[in-house]
Amino acid sequence: MRQIAIYGKGGIGKSTTTQNTVAALADAGKKIMVVGCDPKADSTRLLLNGLNQKTVLDTLRDEGEDVILEDVLRTGFKDVKCVESGGPEPGVGCAGRGIITSINLLESLGAYTDDLDYVFYDVLGDVVCGGFAMPIREGKAREIYIVASGELMALYAANNICKGVQKYAKTGGVRMGGIICNSRKVDKEYDLLKAFAEEIGTQLIHFLPRDNVVQRAEIKKKTVIDYDPTVAQADEYRKLAKNIDENTMFVIPNPMTQDRLEELMMEHGFMEGLD
Ligand code: ADP
Ligand code: SF4
Ligand code: MG
Repeated sequence: MRQIAIYGKGGIGKSTTTQNTVAALADAGKKIMVVGCDPKADSTRLLLNGLNQKTVLDTLRDEGEDVILEDVLRTGFKDVKCVESGGPEPGVGCAGRGIITSINLLESLGAYTDDLDYVFYDVLGDVVCGGFAMPIREGKAREIYIVASGELMALYAANNICKGVQKYAKTGGVRMGGIICNSRKVDKEYDLLKAFAEEIGTQLIHFLPRDNVVQRAEIKKKTVIDYDPTVAQADEYRKLAKNIDENTMFVIPNPMTQDRLEELMMEHGFMEGLD
């Protein structure tokens, strides 16, 4: 069972990319569980066709310890198992602790069955606090992919996340599997992301184009593969899924300094045409 965590700046496309990639893997016959680790609890909506998934933390709050697996785990597209950790009461408690509470509950309820090929954790990534590092700190997720784009803030967040991954990689088994570029149509974005990935010692595992079919599918509460498997974007998600499935490059990342990151952006024409 490969346990994968997807990190990245808020709004970069973690949940969309995770669900679409999972749909492609599930379509290819893989058995998968997705654990949403964002208090927004929207990591499984497209796989569940909008079905309301009660979060683990809400269930624990409402029902105490008498929770059964069916209360918190629903089956979606192609039998993908879907769980949302949820968040603490606003203003109280630590969201990261909530993640570990959820994972522990799933373990004790027997959700991690031997037939699973993959578990994906979709994790909020703006804050690289100890809380949100929980899935890697506790040795659950061993393989990390970061979703980024050519925008400075996306790369800034990606570099920061690498610092967290590096820390736990040095003391444990967690490794970086690659950078996923979710394009924002920034000039020379492919070259920039490729250079960024290589400089931190990893790879650009796939470049996903920006395509409005993603939004059209989202409005229908579906992944692109579920909405229209014939479109080009569906193939892009299939390619990403295949690259992850066949990946053998797992490294301890070497994050950059902020100065070097800005320099790298300059080198790739980010400032071209500006004074
Ligand atoms: P995150 O989980 O990182 O906060 P989301 O997955 O919720 O981000 O994505 C934010 C928005 O970006 C969504 O409304 C989604 O439809 C859109 N989006 C993500 N990837 C793409 C893409 N490749 N092309 C077009 N729109 C996209
Ligand atoms: Fe929030 Fe992170 Fe602190 Fe937990 S560790 S309270 S998630 S900032
Ligand atoms: Mg999300």
